[in-house]
Amino acid sequence: MNEDRTCAVCGQIFLPRAQSPSQRYCSKRDCQRERKARWQKQKIKSDPDYRENQRHAQARWSESHPDYWRTYRDTHQAYKQRNRELQRIRNSQPRHIAKMDVSALDGRLCTGFYVLAQAVCDDIAKIGAWIVHLTVISDLSG
Ligand SMILES: [Zn+2]
Repeated sequence: MNEDRTCAVCGQIFLPRAQSPSQRYCSKRDCQRERKARWQKQKIKSDPDYRENQRHAQARWSESHPDYWRTYRDTHQAYKQRNRELQRIRNSQPRHIAKMDVSALDGRLCTGFYVLAQAVCDDIAKIGAWIVHLTVISDLSG
């Protein structure tokens, strides 16, 4: 009879399946992935044939995907280009931006640049902040 045991990855209690009484990992996908990774790492260390096979498989993969690194470089270039563009836009924006809470606007919102920041956050240093431009289309506050 199988007893509960603790998963070697996530530490949660699980019941081993009847057909694998020595099971050390629960059935969660991440834990199974980790199990496989550990097995593979161990195998590469201990089995020269396996190591050699892996090396060949990798070489074959590179051969059959000759465009992989080129594509990677190209998309990477596009990414860098996009970042440069965004930086350029940021640089062209007004240097000083009025720091003002919407609540301090006395019911009036003016067209202009604002820093939009997430209000609820434990770690203020990590929050995202965005410079946004708000255009007031119509002011119904009278
Ligand atoms: Zn687990």
